[in-house]
Amino acid sequence: MRSKIVAGNWKMNLTFAEAETLVDDILDLFDDQDEMNCEIIICPPLPYLELLTDYEFDEQQFNVGAQNCSAYDKGAYTGEVSAKILKSIDVDYCIVGHSERRKYFGETNEVLAEKINRLIENNMSPIYCVGEVLEEREAGRHFEVVKEQLEKGLFHLDGDAIYDTIIAYEPVWAIGTGKTATPEQAQEMHAFIRSMVKERYDEATADEIRILYGGSCNAQNATELFSQPDVDGGLIGGASIKANDFVSICQQASVIGKE
Ligand code: PEP
Repeated sequence: MRSKIVAGNWKMNLTFAEAETLVDDILDLFDDQDEMNCEIIICPPLPYLELLTDYEFDEQQFNVGAQNCSAYDKGAYTGEVSAKILKSIDVDYCIVGHSERRKYFGETNEVLAEKINRLIENNMSPIYCVGEVLEEREAGRHFEVVKEQLEKGLFHLDGDAIYDTIIAYEPVWAIGTGKTATPEQAQEMHAFIRSMVKERYDEATADEIRILYGGSCNAQNATELFSQPDVDGGLIGGASIKANDFVSICQQASVIGKE
């Protein structure tokens, strides 16, 4: 049985003081809950990673993820942060290929494949994002687009490395728009992704790999999305910087994870 994951992507939001307050608020809310039956990953802006990794979490286990890393291993790449540097401060996860990086920073599937390689070399888990833009869905090309993103960005990994990877299906038209994919649309694409993993690797790998949904997932729609058989949790943007909403989403994932 795959355990659910809720990953919060804070993006380029919050001052340091606001980040501290958010973490305190989230922890206070968790204190009132039973231990969550889901994995939680928080991906803050880079300078706040250590704020999270330094926390002494009691009952509730949090994992910390970066939002990006360099495709290079080390050296004269001013402004870049390598997977090795992230790992050295106990960061175990990293988002790769978020649509905002593909769009605003021109990241191609080929560059993303290199980032994934650096993460795997450093025993980190990539959270690899795939998803189509609205025109592609309207043209009925969404499966084709996601297939190419998987084949070029991820499927070069061997059978062992793929086990450490999480896939996030994020239809670009749903990110930050308030326009969520229907549970049926999410399930259809997640089942397609899982079938691709089975075809490229094997059935056991397809059964194990976690596929998250992202795109205007919030406290109101989390349960119906996470209840779909191939949806293993969510990558949450806007709602992850609201303590009540984020904890509610985690709690919903936890309840479904127990069923
Ligand atoms: C995201 O950016 O990964 C995301 C899912 O954002 P939002 O939840 O705000 O749509």
